[in-house]
Amino acid sequence: SEIELEIKGLNVDYGLGEQSVHAVRDVDLTLRRGEVLGLAGESGSGKSTLAYGLTRLLPPPGVIRGGQVIYHPEQGEPFDVLGLSDRQLRAFRWAQTSIVFQGAMNSLNPVHKISTQLTDVLRAHEPGSTRAARLARARELLALVGIPADRLDSYPHQLSGGMRQRVMIGMALALRPKIVIMDEPTTALDVVVQRQILGQLVGLRERLGFSVLFITHDLSLLVEFSDRIAIMYGGRIVEQASAAGLHKDSLHPYSHGLLHSFPALRGPREELSGIPGSPPDLRSMPTGCAFHPRCPHSFDPCVRRVPELGAPQGRPEQDRSVACWLHPAS
Ligand code: ATP
Ligand code: MG
Repeated sequence: SEIELEIKGLNVDYGLGEQSVHAVRDVDLTLRRGEVLGLAGESGSGKSTLAYGLTRLLPPPGVIRGGQVIYHPEQGEPFDVLGLSDRQLRAFRWAQTSIVFQGAMNSLNPVHKISTQLTDVLRAHEPGSTRAARLARARELLALVGIPADRLDSYPHQLSGGMRQRVMIGMALALRPKIVIMDEPTTALDVVVQRQILGQLVGLRERLGFSVLFITHDLSLLVEFSDRIAIMYGGRIVEQASAAGLHKDSLHPYSHGLLHSFPALRGPREELSGIPGSPPDLRSMPTGCAFHPRCPHSFDPCVRRVPELGAPQGRPEQDRSVACWLHPAS
């Protein structure tokens, strides 16, 4: 299917010089039009940095050290988001992408009603609209995310965490974005609410036709709801596959560890196993594959050279790439 966003060789650091942290390393990642792409990895693996970097919303001292983020509009020529002027960037952001950041549900303004917050977003971007039209649209947006219209006059503290999260999604959809990026919007919520919200977003995606980059720790949610999954470790993508493919058969030992460290939502409850050891220190990375000190299958080459992400040898299936010496690229 059609490519919508192509991240190529993206590198992001925090800070400069000796003390800098290389948080995103040579990331190549493609988002296809209309798909739900899941991004998983342990805390500190660089997921949020990647999301902030590709939209150029990196907080200081974050700096993009290289790479391209090519956006392919439905009409017109592809362009590099990293090359846009500030003004072009603002237009692009509002028209094309919408982000619900980590902890966003706590960023609703406590002193304003939900309706005011939604209509403010609409007014900022459609200054010509009438108040009545904005209110009608706010009601419609809340209905989309399953919030009854009588909640329009509530204040954030009168809503549950799940409802606040839905409001944030409603706001993200207000300007009819082509891409919705959700950065772990649900970790603060319980598992049942998480599933509902992601399920609802997937349903809306089908109706409204946007694509989703969904970032979470919980790989079992991604297996259930996303089309494809990318796994990050130590700033790099280590495996990328269809959700079904990954579920059936994960090639990278880290993916395998992640898949088996969460209890299954359906079927027999598995033991929580977790992955022994801890994520790498980005300031002093292990040599070779960053995962080798924790890897049960580590052998000689893993210590010496960083494996590149590529299609594994001898596997005819198309939709998979892995960065692991057990599965060298063809
Ligand atoms: P989580 O699952 O906890 O949200 P993440 O995968 O989103 O983690 P990032 O927040 O992208 O990880 O962080 C990647 C690395 O960059 C981490 O090692 C983190 O400590 C570092 N980092 C993040 N923000 C900053 C900052 N403002 N200054 C310095 N280092 C930072
Ligand atoms: Mg994060």
